[in-house]
Formats: sequence, C-alpha cells, structure tokens
Amino acid sequence: MSSDFTPPPNFIRTRIIEDNESGRFGGRVMTRFPPEPNGYLHIGHAKSICLNFGLAQEFGGLCNFRFDDTNPSKEDIEYVESIQADVRWLGFDWGDRLYYASDYFERLYEWAVELIRKGRAYVDHLTADEIREYRGTLTQSGRNSPYRDRSVEESLALFEKMRSGEFQDGECVLRTRIDMSSPNLNMRDPVMYRIKHDEHHRTGRRWCIYPMYDYAHGLSDSIEGITHSICTMEYEDHRPLYDWYLDALGVYHPQQIEFARLNLSYTVMSKRKLLQLVREGQVSGWDDPRMPTLAGMRRRGYTPEAIRNFCERIGVGKKESLVDLALLEFCLREDLNRRARRFMAVLRPLRVVIENYPEGQTEELEAVNNPEDGSMGTRKVPFSRVLYIERDDFMENPPKKFYRLAPGREVRLRYAYFVRCVGVVKDDATGEVVELRCSYDPETRGGGAPDGRQVKATLHWVSTDHAQPAEVRLYDRLFTRENPADAEEGLDFKDYINPRSLEVLSDCRVEPALASVSVGDPLQFERLGYFCLDPDSAGGRLVFNRAVTLRDTWAKIQKGESVG
Ligand code: ATP
Ligand code: MG
Repeated sequence: MSSDFTPPPNFIRTRIIEDNESGRFGGRVMTRFPPEPNGYLHIGHAKSICLNFGLAQEFGGLCNFRFDDTNPSKEDIEYVESIQADVRWLGFDWGDRLYYASDYFERLYEWAVELIRKGRAYVDHLTADEIREYRGTLTQSGRNSPYRDRSVEESLALFEKMRSGEFQDGECVLRTRIDMSSPNLNMRDPVMYRIKHDEHHRTGRRWCIYPMYDYAHGLSDSIEGITHSICTMEYEDHRPLYDWYLDALGVYHPQQIEFARLNLSYTVMSKRKLLQLVREGQVSGWDDPRMPTLAGMRRRGYTPEAIRNFCERIGVGKKESLVDLALLEFCLREDLNRRARRFMAVLRPLRVVIENYPEGQTEELEAVNNPEDGSMGTRKVPFSRVLYIERDDFMENPPKKFYRLAPGREVRLRYAYFVRCVGVVKDDATGEVVELRCSYDPETRGGGAPDGRQVKATLHWVSTDHAQPAEVRLYDRLFTRENPADAEEGLDFKDYINPRSLEVLSDCRVEPALASVSVGDPLQFERLGYFCLDPDSAGGRLVFNRAVTLRDTWAKIQKGESVG
C-alpha cells in the first residue's frame, strides 16, 4: 500500500448521492454522532465519527454532536467531557451544534402523551420478567398484556403519575401498542418509558421516567432535521420501529442507514468490557496506552491523522469482519515516519570506554532530525570518551549472522566514528559483561572511512555524561487471542489478557535533546521504534511510551510473505 491510495467504495456515500439527485431531502446532508456518555470512546467510535463528520464535510452538510443521555444510572460527566475532548482531538468540529437527548425530554414526553391519546401506547404493570415471557420467541408469537386494552384516560392518568414519581422503579412502564404477533420481536409492544429514580448528570432529579433508546433516538434525529441517521448493523431490526414512531406522530422523517461495526484483532471493542478492565485494575485506566480507547491511543503516541487514515482505508460495508491490528500499526508508522523527529536512546545500557579518545573532551556531532524531511533540520549530539550502547548490540561469542559489536570487530556509531572492541570487562562474581573497551578511528568522523573500508552495522549510543536517565514503557497487544470476545466455552475475554503486554525499563539513557520534548510530540528512537513522552513525566523525570516498533508486518502480509 502507498500513500496515493484511493478510498474503497462506501455504499452510504452512494445513497446520499442518490438522495441528492432525487431531491429527497432538498439536497441537504445532515448527520450526527450520538455517543452515550457511559464510557470513553474507542477506535470503533472513531470509525463512526470519521464517517458522520466526513460525509457531512464531503457533501457540504453539517454533523451534529448529540449525547444520547437517556440512562442516568450508567452515565457520568467524566464521560461527557472525555468524549468531547476525544472528538476534538480527532480533528472534528461540531461548531455550536452540541445537543443532548435530555434537552428533548419534555418534547418526548408530550409526544408520548400524544401516542397514548391516539391509542398507540399504554401503561403496563407487568414486571420485566413477565414482559419478556409475554414477548414470545422467534418461532412463537407473543401474548397481549392484560393491561393492553385499558382506556386512554386510564393510561394518561397513570403516565402522569409515573412522571410525578408516584411509582417505584419497575412498577410499571409505558409501552407502544403495535403488534404482539409481529415476526420482528422489536415490534411486539416495545417499552417506551421506564421508571428510574436516579440522579441525571444534566437534569438532576427533574425526571424519574426515562425514554428508551429506540423511542428517543429517531425523534431526536427528527427534531434536529437529520437526513441520514447512520448506525451499526445491530439496529437494522430496529429500523421498522424507528420508522414507526416517526410515522405514528407524523413528524419529519430521517433515513436510518446501518453499517458494519469495526472489530479489531487482539482487543475488545465494547464499552462494557473496557469498563470491566478499568474497574478491575487490569489496566491503569481508560487512557492506559494498551487500551483501544482514543485516550489510550493518544497517550500511546497515535496521531489523529493515522487514525483517520485507518478509518478511511478500512472502508464502510455491511459485513462484519475482524480488522488486523497490523493495518492500524501500518497507518501509524506511515504517518510517524513523515513527522517524527529522530533521536538516540539506549534502553538497556552497556558502558563503553573509548580508550584513545581524550579524557574530558566533548564534541558536538551533527545529526539529522528526519531523513524523510530535510526541512526538519539537524541537531547537535554530544560525544565523549564514555558512552552507552544497547546491551544486545554486543555479543562476546557472536553467531554467524550477528554483525554488530563483538571482540575485535569494528562498527559505526551513528553520526560519530568507527569504533573497534578491544577489550571486555566482566563482573568477577557473575561473569556478566559490564563494560567494553574500544578504540576509535578519528579519520571516520561523521561515519565514513577515507580508505573506503566498510562496517556491517551502525549502532545508536549516548554519551554517559550528557545523557538523561529515563523510564521507557514497551507495550504489546493486550490480549493473546485474536478475537477475545469470542471466548472458548467456560472462558471469558479476560482469560486471554496478555501477561506480557507491558514491560517497564526503568534504567534507560536518552540523548539530552529529549529532555525538552513535549507530550504529544511524535518521536523516533533510532532502531527502536516510535515513541512519545508520557504525561507521567514530571519534575525532570522522563517517561516515554513506545507507540509501535519500526518493523512493518502489514506490508509483508499484503505481499503474502510470512511474518514470523
Ligand atoms: P459499545 O458497543 O462499545 O458499548 P455503543 O454502540 O454502545 O458502543 P454508543 O455511545 O452508543 O456506543 O456509540 C456511538 C456511536 O458509535 C453509535 O452510532 C454507534 O453505532 C457507533 N459505534 C459504536 N461502536 C462502534 C464500532 N465498533 N464500529 C463502528 N461504530 C461504532
Ligand atoms: Mg449504543
């Protein structure tokens, strides 16, 4: 795949074009993103955000932001705030069109009264279990509630009492009178309102009855003049009900369109499951860099551009699939390769003394900030007699294909000199290599030999006196199973948590320039991957997260090569 990639076809785009041609909505395009504030947004939501805001942009329309806040017991202001921050970070702007379904509670109540008056809704005293039992099954028709035929006046009076708090939770509900023998279970007198004596984060205790999603959603769309109400496939069987409410009330009628939700390998994508991970301390919070939440991905070092690009590439269809995590990482590398500044950092330091380099001398060597983009300039990196290199860049008894440092061997230090290993210092007690003695060739400054001799490896390094100590956190996939939500019998998604998803290296050394980067700056540590500064950095302490390694498995998958 390359950057000049054409987006895959999108059937929703096609339908909008058709509607514009037929003049169905007068050429208007109005979409909405309707999150429920009961958790943080995840990469699945990003697909919906990009789709809704993207289509509106493309057709010169608008996209509303609407909180679907109809269930006070699960919702919280923390979520209301994080969701807005995440959508903004992703790069979308809803202008002054921030709405809440709770803004419409009064209107929805009046419409419910109208439906009762029309004989199309009634107050029912069956319990939740009884309602389920009366509903029947896919093969068996439902039965009418004994309260179904009570008079309009009685239902009106009872509904008013429901509102004024004269009933306990669960004592009764308002139901739609449709058809208990409908082949579509959603049409068998669905519940419209339930009683919840809960504090709502916006309306406080003003209401103790709350509308159900199916009732509130379509009418909220109607109120806002939405043209295309885009939702995920599980609502396909709810569309007849969406249409029913609008028709029964004779109000403006948007078009609901369903698409397949995004599933990503080696993770879970349901707020309920993510909440469980947070509550049980399996992760450090909603913004743990291993989480598929936008907050977690941002902290991990994902960029909005990479996520938007990913959402464009996966396309929009009707068939559910599991998208390979490698594709998401490919999109991230592609973006970071362009914009990340390069640095040198040593994660597992091994001391190197350059015996023939003058004691007390420091040189400033010039290093390129981004070979992909000359306009990002260069910086100075201090070099001195004592350095650190990566522990695994040295082997005392190297196997055949190991070309890095070994006794007697010469390698290049990036931006610096050729060095040769002339001695190894070991810990007397453990036999562990604790220091290398090297010599350098002053003629090779900048990394080339005038006599044309070659070396087979270039190593990154830092100067011990100049380097900054740092903690580096390396991440792996959060689950060991490709689709953890599809657990084997008797197991649960949490049984597949990867015990090695986080590795903390607390004794790293990084080049001095890294002391002045900011949270959010895209960084590459040469040879090690893409990184970013973690917000845990404070008071001079440096903490970095690895967003992704440099190795691109996706390109290989595309070429059909094995990626062992
Ligand atoms: P979850 O299943 O994670 O709990 P949800 O559907 O309950 O998500 P909402 O807050 O209702 O979460 O979602 C807001 C919008 O995002 C909805 O329009 C929903 O269809 C869409 N959405 C949610 N999950 C995905 C996904 N995995 N892929 C695409 N769109 C999604
Ligand atoms: Mg939902």
